[in-house]
Amino acid sequence: MASKMSLMVPKVTKSRYSSLCSDDELLDDDTDCYQSVSVKRGSWIDDFGSISSSQNSIYLPTTGCVSASPPREDFASTSIPVIKMGWLDKNPPQGSLIYQRRWVKLDAEYLRYFDTEKDIYSKRIIPTMSITGVVNVGDQKFEVVTHNRTFLFRAESDLDRNEWVSVLKNCVKTYQARTSLDMTFNPCVNYEMKGYLELRGLRSKLYTVVCADKVFLYKNTEDYRLGIGITSIDMNVGNVKEMDRRAFDLTTPYRIFSFVADTDQLKDQWVDAMRNSIKEALSNYEVAEQIWTEPSNQMCADCSAAKPEWAAINLAVVFCKRCAGEHRGLGPSISKVRSLKMDKKVWTEDLIQLFLTLGNERANQFWAANVPPSEALNLNSSSEERRRFITAKYREGKYRRYHPLFGNQRELNNALCINVQSSDVCETLALVFCGADVSCDTGDPDLPSPIALAQHHGQKLQVEFLSQNRNTELPRSEVKVAIDTVHYMAPPSITHNGFLFKTASMARPITEKKGKEEFSRRWCVLNDGNFSYYESDKNATPNGGLKMKEIVCLAVNPPETHGYDHTFELYSDAERLYLFGTDHPESMREWVKSIAKSFIPSGAEDLLLKEFERIGRLRYKDRLNREMSRLGWFCLVGSSLHIRLEESSADETIDLQKLQELSIQPENEVLVLVERGRTLYIEGERKLDFLGWAAAIQRAAGSSGDTLSQQQLTEADIPVIVERCIHFITQYGLTSEGIYRKSGVNSKIAALLEEFRRDARCVWLKEGEHQVDDVSNVLKRFFRDIEEGLFGQEAHSWLSTTGVSDESSRICQYQLLYSNLPRVNQATLRALVNHLYCVQRFADLNQMNLHNLAIVFGPTLFQADGKDYSAGRVIEDLIQHYVTIFDVNEQQLKKQLDEITYIIKLRDNLTPKAGTGSGDFICTVYLEEKKETAEQHVKIPAAMTAAELTFEILDRRKISVKEKDYWCCFEVNEKEETERPLHYQERVLPIFHSLGTDSHLLVKKHFSMEAMLVYLASKVEVSKHGMMKFREERSLLGLGLTTGSFNDRYFILTSTSLRLYKEIRNLQKLQSPELQCSNRPEREWPVKCLKVYHGIKKKLRPPTCWGLTVIYESEKQEKQERQQWYLCCDTQNEMREWFATFMSIQNGGRVWPAEWLKSRATSRSAPLDARFGNVSLIPLRGSENEMRNSVAAFTADPLALFRNV
Ligand SMILES: [Zn+2]
Repeated sequence: MASKMSLMVPKVTKSRYSSLCSDDELLDDDTDCYQSVSVKRGSWIDDFGSISSSQNSIYLPTTGCVSASPPREDFASTSIPVIKMGWLDKNPPQGSLIYQRRWVKLDAEYLRYFDTEKDIYSKRIIPTMSITGVVNVGDQKFEVVTHNRTFLFRAESDLDRNEWVSVLKNCVKTYQARTSLDMTFNPCVNYEMKGYLELRGLRSKLYTVVCADKVFLYKNTEDYRLGIGITSIDMNVGNVKEMDRRAFDLTTPYRIFSFVADTDQLKDQWVDAMRNSIKEALSNYEVAEQIWTEPSNQMCADCSAAKPEWAAINLAVVFCKRCAGEHRGLGPSISKVRSLKMDKKVWTEDLIQLFLTLGNERANQFWAANVPPSEALNLNSSSEERRRFITAKYREGKYRRYHPLFGNQRELNNALCINVQSSDVCETLALVFCGADVSCDTGDPDLPSPIALAQHHGQKLQVEFLSQNRNTELPRSEVKVAIDTVHYMAPPSITHNGFLFKTASMARPITEKKGKEEFSRRWCVLNDGNFSYYESDKNATPNGGLKMKEIVCLAVNPPETHGYDHTFELYSDAERLYLFGTDHPESMREWVKSIAKSFIPSGAEDLLLKEFERIGRLRYKDRLNREMSRLGWFCLVGSSLHIRLEESSADETIDLQKLQELSIQPENEVLVLVERGRTLYIEGERKLDFLGWAAAIQRAAGSSGDTLSQQQLTEADIPVIVERCIHFITQYGLTSEGIYRKSGVNSKIAALLEEFRRDARCVWLKEGEHQVDDVSNVLKRFFRDIEEGLFGQEAHSWLSTTGVSDESSRICQYQLLYSNLPRVNQATLRALVNHLYCVQRFADLNQMNLHNLAIVFGPTLFQADGKDYSAGRVIEDLIQHYVTIFDVNEQQLKKQLDEITYIIKLRDNLTPKAGTGSGDFICTVYLEEKKETAEQHVKIPAAMTAAELTFEILDRRKISVKEKDYWCCFEVNEKEETERPLHYQERVLPIFHSLGTDSHLLVKKHFSMEAMLVYLASKVEVSKHGMMKFREERSLLGLGLTTGSFNDRYFILTSTSLRLYKEIRNLQKLQSPELQCSNRPEREWPVKCLKVYHGIKKKLRPPTCWGLTVIYESEKQEKQERQQWYLCCDTQNEMREWFATFMSIQNGGRVWPAEWLKSRATSRSAPLDARFGNVSLIPLRGSENEMRNSVAAFTADPLALFRNV
């Protein structure tokens, strides 16, 4: 600043004069002034006469600037961009017809006019906020109306005039739209000093106001009050010099203002005030100039306007005046707007540094990561466009780059706690504005908050950023309102009336029967979207009512739920429940139809045709729209949920009894429906109607009755209970002697059966937890109790068929009967006979031959007493002629039997190793996040690789995989707070066995994989050296307490070992491979014995959040050694590079399958590869296709399995 200022020392080269106060203004209402001025020209203006354009003008001397083009662009008017400027004729007041040519300039703050375009000091300055109107008056003329004065201008053309009117109106509107005026715009407020001062050359005094970094000149106090001034002087170019007695000069590069105060004392005060103003102007520029040293801060973060002077100190962006207005509109809880020039107190050194570290570029990498070009702002964007964009950007976070941890609160908070200990404020910004809680609990009583942690680690910028965002409101999508308005179409005018019985409205679900005495008779009228109820049909004033558009759900109760036979419930979006009743079914139907019609939009009207028990709107998410929920219209009919989702043109139906999963996430009230093709998340936008929906859907998804078809079914139409029992027996019971014959424990059987009846989908049979004999008896009891039996009403025909002596006609007869069975019975019978066929094939192990099975299952399936053997004969025939009767593909059956053989062998093989009792095959794997609804139970064959497991999980959830989606299986250790992506070829079973209780397997995307692959691709030789911070666990007195700290160490990772060097004096030498050998490392580990995990336990206070936990396990049998230590990198990049290098070395350069998607296709269709682990041995869900795959998987090389065990 100082060097620049030296250029500014005014130097009068050639006197030039321009009028300061124009005649007309002074003439307005003060002719005295005008006369006195014209008479009394000061001696210093004696030589300007020739330039005078008007005898009535007051002239002040102008000092020329040293350079030909004055540096005003840099100093005088940097602050506010000019919106429009040009020549206009101005009509002098008092009806004179002589127009004066004026150079008129408009910016967001002021409309000013000058004698010439070169002038720095205006003849008139009108704050845009004082303009009350802009009026088009014809003949290229327009009026600018303020509170007390109207200015008439004439443009050179209509076009130009229209432009002026339009930009002026726009400016005025901006102010009017703003609810609270920002007083810092108003020069009248926050003044340092004000009062009359004599300006030499003028006989009358001018009302002078020193305000912030400007001095304003007004003709009098009245003008001051109205904000309409003569000119303003930017004090950043000013200099105050005391002259004789009461006089002092304010010099600027353009002019010297010679003032005379009334008294000596006042003069001192004026001089002080003006010097303060200069100081302020300069110091403020210091802030701006400092902030602008970061190049991206020289342009508005939102519209790219140059030299932005405003900032949101919590969002870390700098923007222009016009955008600042919209930021202010968001409120300080979203954007804390401060001026770089005026709010100098807030600009501490740390805050300035924060803006240099983050700044517009890096902050926008987060805030504006996804801006569609059509929505981006430019310099000419209107206020409306600015408002829309800035709201979307900062309030809704619409364009932000989602943090990989978005949506996972615990992980976000965790990451924040670690990250604030590093210098990476960009990451903190991303974390905080993706939901990390600035005041979350760190788990450390000494440093309870992220701010305390950052402070402790000396991260001042983190502290600054966190402090600025203590109370910031997080971005959230507010699409809801928009969608509702789009979807809500005025209902057709429905009119209906009649008597209904009504209870008082409620805020809770109805749990008890409401007796008749709780209802009151009301005359109800539905008309034009309003539902009103009256004391009687004679009354004119309703007792109350409901607007139909506020209804979110209508539920029809089963008859006789309450005192009145027929009742229905209405739910409002204000969380009220209204119960109505009537004894007339006809009246009930009419009301329900009319009400539904008047709140269901026409787009979803097909739903109205159904005999629904519940209809309404809910918000939902699905796989395609996981970030933002949408609105859908739902209607429940029996076990079918009909849906009209947003953006779909037809209704969809979900058969609730065939869901693969149904669960409620209680913490956020989401109902998760996993269906064959997708997963639907229904959100509890409001509690009351959501509870109703959740209960109704759960009820509908459960077994609706005791017949076979009323059970929860699999895709193949087999009751879930039957399928699960058969699978369990196939896996664990085929070698069990007397299976299906032995009785289990009665109480356990009853309990398990009850569990299945309640919700079969939730029952997962596990070895160790469940006994084969209990399970086999559950299956038998299920068939024995099932209403109508497995053979249905034709049971006697099946039984009499046994009397047909000719075998082939008997078989034909069975075939015919089979084809006449209902679909569910068919599928179930087929699956069961298939199972029994398999059981008897292993009779040498289980002693259950054909005959034995028939004795057990005949009476069970025919629900008979067993005295008559014909039932047994039927079963015997069905099993014996299974292939013919059911037209079974023999090749397929052979594979299935082969498969079972291998299961049996594998089990024999694994038995000694097992013994954990929790099931060796079925393990729990999570998808994306550890929570109950993301649980998948997977059978893990010994040879299954991580990639195969990953595909298995993705397939189950029907997640389609894109080329750049690096889905990976992670070993997550909750206690150590670490995770390790498994290598795609790594076998899962040994890892699963080694997992402690704090660990689990999780399938999720590996977000660093791409960066790692890019890095590795750029390397010729895979090795790496560099500094990392190293910490080792040291046991304290064998008490299990550990100590240690992180120290800088130099590491060299080569294809064989990782070496640690303490001394880094000979780094040069170290970096040359030949010399490496000559430097003995302090420590050295073989790479193949290291297991590297992402993350370091927070408790160890890693210095950065980019840490690795390394476990070393020596190979030596005689001396088992295990070490655990930690490596911390300065940046995420560094850490990725180290990790990639480890992975590459440990896996011979194969970090990711070259043809990832193809490898998947192979694993699904024809896995000719020797391993068969890529498909579960016996599919948990028995579609035939899967069955075929799994069988095909191991026929190529059956022994491969045992080689791998
Ligand atoms: Zn802007």
